[in-house]
Amino acid sequence: MHHFFVQKENITGTEILIDDSRDFNHAVRVLRLQEGEKILVSDPEGKDYLCTVDRVLQAAENNGTSALRVLIEAEPEENHELPAKVILFQCMPKSDKMELIIQKAVELGVSEIVPVASKNCVLKLDEKKADSKIRRWQAIAESAAKQSKRSIVPAVREPISFREAVEACEGCDLGLIPYEEEKGLTGTCEAIVNFLPGRSIGVIIGPEGGFDPLEAAMAKRHGILPVSLGRRILRAETAAIAILSLIMIRLEIAAGMELETEE
Ligand code: SAH
Repeated sequence: MHHFFVQKENITGTEILIDDSRDFNHAVRVLRLQEGEKILVSDPEGKDYLCTVDRVLQAAENNGTSALRVLIEAEPEENHELPAKVILFQCMPKSDKMELIIQKAVELGVSEIVPVASKNCVLKLDEKKADSKIRRWQAIAESAAKQSKRSIVPAVREPISFREAVEACEGCDLGLIPYEEEKGLTGTCEAIVNFLPGRSIGVIIGPEGGFDPLEAAMAKRHGILPVSLGRRILRAETAAIAILSLIMIRLEIAAGMELETEE
């Protein structure tokens, strides 16, 4: 099920307006959501709303902003989702490492996983192989989602190039690239602590061979923040688990604090 995040003020009674321009475009132009389709919407505190798509409100009928109107059908009591969108752009490692990464990333709360073909990737997928791999990876995501009681099954996307990953990551509210050449954890901590619920974060992790310096430079030029994960070189799968754990803990604390101040 497609999952969207909105601010609290977008929720009135039984209606929710998806009016963030990026989300609106994604829902209407990319996913082409139709009336009656079910989607999951979450507010910044991590509360879920199971909704059905109603209709597109043109800018003229909605104070100058186009919006997709959805109707709340149910408010599932139990919520196991992180209150933000977390996208893992994973440069494909060899053998079954990608499977481990997908399983752990889903347990740690990612919204979607995008396999990336970067310069030093050993695994090369032709179209035919990619299809069956993605099906297998999606099945792994599904069983991990069930096991960890997620309310959505994170999508495993089609592999994209490094450049496409950088561009997609740039579209997130925050983009991080763990880079072993980066020194010091202050930047990592600051970026994570300043990341707020209700936003989106993209993380690009390198393959076993690491990033080509030109790739790291390209990411930096696109505003993606290089961060360190400590003084040791981690394997790709450890790096993914380490940064996703930090993001998960930061978001869970933020969601918990919101509830405390409300009481
Ligand atoms: N090129 C390296 C290993 C790459 S590790 C070598 O062979 O020495 C695979 C990926 O994990 C890296 O591209 C990076 O995204 C991440 N990574 C591993 N250790 C890291 C660290 N200490 N800080 C930040 N990222 C790290």
